Amino acid sequence: MAARIIDGKAVAAAVRERVKVDVAAYVEEAGRVPGLATVLVGEDPASQVYVGMKRRNTEDVGMRSIHHEPEASIREEELLELVRELNEDDDVDGILVQLPLPAQISENAIVAAIDPRKDVDGLTPINAGLLAHGDPGLVPCTPSGVMELLAHEGVGLEGAEAVVVGRSKLVGVPVARLLLQANATVTVCHSRTRDLDATCRRADVLVAAVGVPRLLGKEAVKEGAIVIDVGVNRLEEGLVGDVDYEAAAEVAAAITPVPGGVGPMTIAMLLDNTLQAARMRTTSG
Ligand code: NAP
Repeated sequence: MAARIIDGKAVAAAVRERVKVDVAAYVEEAGRVPGLATVLVGEDPASQVYVGMKRRNTEDVGMRSIHHEPEASIREEELLELVRELNEDDDVDGILVQLPLPAQISENAIVAAIDPRKDVDGLTPINAGLLAHGDPGLVPCTPSGVMELLAHEGVGLEGAEAVVVGRSKLVGVPVARLLLQANATVTVCHSRTRDLDATCRRADVLVAAVGVPRLLGKEAVKEGAIVIDVGVNRLEEGLVGDVDYEAAAEVAAAITPVPGGVGPMTIAMLLDNTLQAARMRTTSG
């Protein structure tokens, strides 16, 4: 195995440390503590774990965690009312509604109701639109985590061939937009892409955000490429990514492991976004 391992845990720890220092400076300056409101509907075990980690990390960096846990039977109108209350609450700088939501609730309606200035997941149409315009507001956490890892590795993106596999609103599209903004030449692949391996093999930077275990093997990786695997797939053997790690590591220059690559970055960037939201609200009055 030749590839360098990109240690997301270490980079995420450094981001959290940076945020912690910046939070202390903000508290000193603004005389208030930034607050992140989390909303967890129902009792999905994976969501419980994610939200628990987000809350702990929020407090660890010196911010306030405000938590709501409505029952799974909540009606859409009631959840919208909760979001409106959080929009109005001056102690709340960021609002995170953990997805997925129960079937009776439209995720789009709930996300769209979040005040874009408090949209620390970066998923509202306003923030997605700002990113598309090349004038980003709050950017989705996993994509900005990917960019942070690339920056940490010192990857030169200007003019580089970047291939993103996946075109979701949550990961693929915003990653592609950020790479484009960094002046990479970006190709976005999806389930209808004709020759996936050949397209991926063009990539200096390959980002996989698919949700299919080990979809991309050695044939999909150019010699010397940087491979960022966003995929998290739960198999009996444990968590695996969308890239066949062992095979890809034989040809790549650097690769993220799963777990321990992109995953830890998502929460770190959420904390960063919450502080950014607090600063934006403080300066805009
Ligand atoms: P998603 O909404 O299901 O989107 C998956 C994308 O992959 C779609 O654009 C789909 O194409 C494409 N696709 C599916 N099968 C394909 C195939 N055989 N060949 C090429 N493209 C294919 O998923 P997501 O929310 O973006 O998440 C992607 C992965 O990232 C998942 O494993 C998820 O668990 C993981 N994830 C990790 C984090 C983290 O913090 N590490 C955060 C978010 C997501 P179409 O558009 O044509 O259907």
